[in-house]
Amino acid sequence: MMNNAEKPQLTIPRVRRSICIPYFDYKIDRNKQAKQLTLFDLPPMGIGFSHVVNSIDKTQFTVNFDVFENINKYDFALISLVSYYDYFNLYSMLINFDVRTNIIIGGPAVLNIYPFIDKIYAACFGRCDTQINDILNGIPCENVYSAEFGINRYKIGQATCRIGDYREHENAVGCRKKCFFCEYGFKYEYVDFAGQYGEYANNETFFKDIDFINHGHNTAGLDGLTEKERYVVNKPLSNDAIIEKLNTHTKRDNFRLKLFAVTAFPFTDNYYYDELIETVSKAKTKPITIMLGLSHFCPMPLTPMEEEKVLIVDLKRLAPIKVNNIKMMTYLQSTSYKKAVLNSLFNRMRIDDIDTLKQIFTLNIDKFIPKIMDKMPHIVQGGYIPIDYIERPFKIDGLKKLYERRKSEYCA
Ligand code: SF4
Repeated sequence: MMNNAEKPQLTIPRVRRSICIPYFDYKIDRNKQAKQLTLFDLPPMGIGFSHVVNSIDKTQFTVNFDVFENINKYDFALISLVSYYDYFNLYSMLINFDVRTNIIIGGPAVLNIYPFIDKIYAACFGRCDTQINDILNGIPCENVYSAEFGINRYKIGQATCRIGDYREHENAVGCRKKCFFCEYGFKYEYVDFAGQYGEYANNETFFKDIDFINHGHNTAGLDGLTEKERYVVNKPLSNDAIIEKLNTHTKRDNFRLKLFAVTAFPFTDNYYYDELIETVSKAKTKPITIMLGLSHFCPMPLTPMEEEKVLIVDLKRLAPIKVNNIKMMTYLQSTSYKKAVLNSLFNRMRIDDIDTLKQIFTLNIDKFIPKIMDKMPHIVQGGYIPIDYIERPFKIDGLKKLYERRKSEYCA
């Protein structure tokens, strides 16, 4: 038996620096009317964020969950931002908060640092699977903004390992389809961990791969109400292919098909669903429930459509309710032009917008949106490359030209 002198000794520094993962226990939930635009009720511990926290060197740092108001008691606060809702809510928390700790933001939504530039210590772009200890120790990384070094040019961190455990893991990162509106396809290099190509986000499948036989439900992307729209944005799904696929549904009732459809593309005037209704009417399918999730187009950085405008039109209420054998067409998780403008604000605001945003931010949403359009028209009108301090992971100049060509064909 080993005596104490022979046992390996852990060398834990006497004072470990402290990290807080804050949560916002009173904030509102995006899916409930009274609780819109939440950051999170509990810390967002998706598999990516869990992996980062697990990778922290516990001999150097302690990690605690705590309410946001307590972050100044810690050396660092680690915050994961998943969508623009999180941007909005973190901004609303920080606007009047005297920050005396080192805030590090990361997560899938983080690209534009200007909303938080005077409040944060560091921001991670893309994956930072193996870098968290370097970031905490102030070591420069090519995909990390640090207040210490000022704004430079950054890369997007790419996947260097498969994240997950026996409960949940990634099948793939990125997407090789390259729909022109989709940030996900232009942010990450495609890696297929599972050896079978599939759409990763939200467990979606491609429309052609919907399986009516073995599952009771499926989720897929339509991403354009008409065939022409889908062609322009590089989502080549024909009306015939939709009918053909729906017709393979012959076996069971109550199949639920959740379809995401991007609407209000900046080149379109088709908000009336006529073509989609006509298309699904032709399918001789068993009764089926189609849940149509409408997303108002928002120009996403890094994509061929990043310079586009946001169309100001309210189209949710025009969505169809019932079409022939399609039991019900409804909409869920739909976004309006107001959310597209907010999303665009946090994606596109520039350093000279910081003061304007501070002045108008506390207005209620119905006054806030017109003020954005009035004081910062470029947020809605576009026409410039946002977040130009980030190196585009893919060359998109050629695709921008292709998009413009298809757009002029559409408009001809
Ligand atoms: S919309 Fe879907 S298919 Fe298109 S690039 Fe994005 S993830 Fe891929």
